[in-house]
Amino acid sequence: MQQSKPKILLIYTGGTIGMMKDYETGALKAFDFKKLLKRIPELHLLDCEIDTVSFEKPIDSSNIKIKNWQNIALIIQNNYNSFDGFVVLHGSDTMSYSASALSFMLENLSKPVVFTGSQLPIGDLRTDAKENLITAIQIASLQDKGTSVFNEVCLYFEYKLYRGNRTTKISAEHFNAFTSPNFTELAESGVHLKVNNEVLFQSNSKKLLKVNLELNDNVLILKLFPGIKKEMLVALLSTPGLKGIILETYGSGNAPNEDWFIFELKNAIKKNIHVINVTQCSGGSVNMGQYETSQQLKKIGVISGKDITSEAAITKLMYLLGQNVSAKVFKTIFETPLRGEMI
Ligand code: ASP
Repeated sequence: MQQSKPKILLIYTGGTIGMMKDYETGALKAFDFKKLLKRIPELHLLDCEIDTVSFEKPIDSSNIKIKNWQNIALIIQNNYNSFDGFVVLHGSDTMSYSASALSFMLENLSKPVVFTGSQLPIGDLRTDAKENLITAIQIASLQDKGTSVFNEVCLYFEYKLYRGNRTTKISAEHFNAFTSPNFTELAESGVHLKVNNEVLFQSNSKKLLKVNLELNDNVLILKLFPGIKKEMLVALLSTPGLKGIILETYGSGNAPNEDWFIFELKNAIKKNIHVINVTQCSGGSVNMGQYETSQQLKKIGVISGKDITSEAAITKLMYLLGQNVSAKVFKTIFETPLRGEMI
């Protein structure tokens, strides 16, 4: 008996991959998806069935908002039982944020959700879009004894498949636009697709998919710099409604240990504003207490982001706030890996 082909849903949100030059302004803007598909006849040669759905108004990913993440999550939820895998076409600028957000929103995922896009539009002669798209679809269709090989939110770009919530965009120029500084690739595409089986996320396949739509965006990221002033910190921390802040610190989680700095943070924590320590280094982990300049942070209850990226940290913060996690356990839960986003 002939086995049925895997079914893949292609979700088009926008991004360079589907953009064309506006004749009047010369700027790249999102383009109609149906016309776009005609440019990739190769899709018909793939050994899977492909269905497509597009954002009503495709966007440049610099305009992405929580409501767009909710839209993607709902599309996946509504089509979950009818498809074997999902490929999300998305602009590369904020792709790491979206992949991180979706990894938290989609709990007990047991099918692949692969984000991809490109640095050049699909209509460009030298485009990187075709390889990215075709391999992303093959990855989403990959099965072993009838079940999906990948059960997590991934990001595929320029021959590498990454865990989505471990990635960050590093280049506005190179086709190799992403990296995963603290976690090895899930797979590499060469002559063969080499899957790194030992590091794949093991979801509890007995549990049903749970889609968490609530995210709270009363959050901010503050990157420390030498010379940061008290008035700036005070102004940021008194933002009305603020619930949490990602503090991008130096090295292994170090910050000025001047009295005013510690005092303002302590005050914020007292007011139930969660403060998360994430390193501004592109690799490595926060280790509060290693230096004198991080001992106080630990003492006043700053949460360790360990080796998390800022993209995953801010979306995890939005997610946990959206779940109304109580202040008592917030630190413990934040410091626990939920979707393989930290050690
Ligand atoms: N500005 C574009 C976007 O993020 C860039 C890209 O797609 O690579 O939507």
